[in-house]
Amino acid sequence: ANVLIESDKRFDKDRIRMKDKSDHATIENVLDSRIKNKLHKLFEKGILAEINGCISTGKEANVYYAKSKNKDEIAIKIYRTSILTFRNREKYIRGEYRFDHVHSLSNPRKMVKVWAEKEFSNLKRLEQGGVRAPRPILSGGHLLLMEFLGSDGWAAPKLKDAVLTDSKSRTLYRECIEIMWKMYNKCRLVHADLSEYNMLYHDGSIVVIDVSQAVDRDHCNAMEFLRNDCSNITAFFKKYDVGVMSLQALFDFITD
Ligand code: ADP
Ligand code: MN
Repeated sequence: ANVLIESDKRFDKDRIRMKDKSDHATIENVLDSRIKNKLHKLFEKGILAEINGCISTGKEANVYYAKSKNKDEIAIKIYRTSILTFRNREKYIRGEYRFDHVHSLSNPRKMVKVWAEKEFSNLKRLEQGGVRAPRPILSGGHLLLMEFLGSDGWAAPKLKDAVLTDSKSRTLYRECIEIMWKMYNKCRLVHADLSEYNMLYHDGSIVVIDVSQAVDRDHCNAMEFLRNDCSNITAFFKKYDVGVMSLQALFDFITD
């Protein structure tokens, strides 16, 4: 049953413990030998001390919960290399000066590497611009290590799953607009997949996640992506008694 560990003697049994069989199945699907090697190096360096299970399995990536040697909680995002997902990624990479040097987007492996680096660099920009997001730790190959958001090993809920009072939802709506403004004006980024699915509700505020597709505001499709983000956010907060601004007013507020 324990194929991951038994098939790879370089892994110390005691250091990688998966919670249950379903975790084994999912981790085997994404962990090719390169990723295992990379993880092994991180164990040797003490950057990782244990991987304790799967937080999320998505179409594009799986996210695992881990701890460092000094017990810091870490989220590991491992990106998929499947053909289906990389076609979609291209339009977020092309059309931006940061990726002018990338010529081999037809190679899924290289594409995923660029994708992981892109998320890392976007998280850095968010940190520098003062937008709450997981602190990036490192990216290499197909994976990204970042600060884990949650408490006692429980990941913070997505905004869509948070239970909000009317007054809290009003505060969060304002917070969300401020985040979009800061992302655009301080970090020069457009999230491009912003919704209640890619914001966590942590310690009473919003934390932005999943920025691999976020583009520089000079990207040729940035305005289209921003309009779409505005529309997702407006649709979500319309469910609450917050008195949302019009789509155009929100867009103008962010870009003016
Ligand atoms: P994708 O949507 O491409 O699968 P995400 O970056 O949105 O990837 O991550 C998937 C899920 O994993 C999130 O919805 C969230 O529940 C969880 N997650 C991601 N990053 C973190 C983190 N740093 N801390 C806690 N949970 C996280
Ligand atoms: Mn997501």
